Amino acid sequence: MSETDAFPGFRVTFWGTRGSIPTPGPATRVYGGNTSCVELRAGPTLLICDAGTGLRELGLRLSAENGGGIEGHLFLSHAHWDHIQGFPFFPAIYDPRSSFRIYEVAGAPQRHHKLLSGQMSSDYFPVAFSDLGARVVPAPLPQSGAEIADVSVSAFLQRHPGGSFAYSFERDGTKVVYATDCELDLDLPDPEAPLKDPAALREVSPEFVAFVKGADLLIIDSQYLDEEYPTKVGWGHPRATTAIDAAIRAEVKQVALFHHDPMHSDQAVNAKVALCRKRAEKHGANLFVFGAREGLQITIDP
Ligand SMILES: [Zn+2]
Ligand SMILES: [Zn+2]
Repeated sequence: MSETDAFPGFRVTFWGTRGSIPTPGPATRVYGGNTSCVELRAGPTLLICDAGTGLRELGLRLSAENGGGIEGHLFLSHAHWDHIQGFPFFPAIYDPRSSFRIYEVAGAPQRHHKLLSGQMSSDYFPVAFSDLGARVVPAPLPQSGAEIADVSVSAFLQRHPGGSFAYSFERDGTKVVYATDCELDLDLPDPEAPLKDPAALREVSPEFVAFVKGADLLIIDSQYLDEEYPTKVGWGHPRATTAIDAAIRAEVKQVALFHHDPMHSDQAVNAKVALCRKRAEKHGANLFVFGAREGLQITIDP
């Protein structure tokens, strides 16, 4: 462990913040076009949330820093393309000195390890999973939680086609929650509430609120605007306004709007962030709202 690894709390870096499909180009330069990938550093421990195309950039940085031999813990929300496509392009998995654990939530119907390797069958990809140099192994994660190094990790099953998991990470009295691909609107106690009075603070799933409660940082799916949602019901993503209401209810300190819609330009994401800030202010919440963007690093101190 080097001296720079001796810090409390977390260092969080966003490597991919886009939902559904990569969107490179001039209109998405600020927030970025890579799909879901967030790095959490807990001292010397490397935790990675999702393996979207942003994982490639993280891998390049790790190789440049370490020169090889990387040990990491990978948490997949689920195995939709935008959450696994970066995996075959993650340089560290070709390095025999590296090892990665891919967590499988106990009792979950999906087998992440199998699905990750499946996307590397020769129909889809030229290099076979069995030819990877690194040790890549499945690891069980009880839904009640586990200790990984000095981090307490737990999982929460979310509403999404095929299911997806949110993860909570706690260390030194700080808490970071990664909750993407969660259609909170389908679990509203009153599904009509956003239509009856769009400005009113919504009741959201109490189980979700309890899981997120008091987080120093909540990274949350905020894909749709209110006017977009009615034609996308059941697609697995919430209204951004509902995501904010969940953060307010859970008394979160800061919230990163995440999984930006591929149709949203930087300008559109800016407008979404402004709208959500206003909403948090209107409801008197002591909540800092920002848009997750590629390259952004945040320190979560106790
Ligand atoms: Zn997604
Ligand atoms: Zn999905």
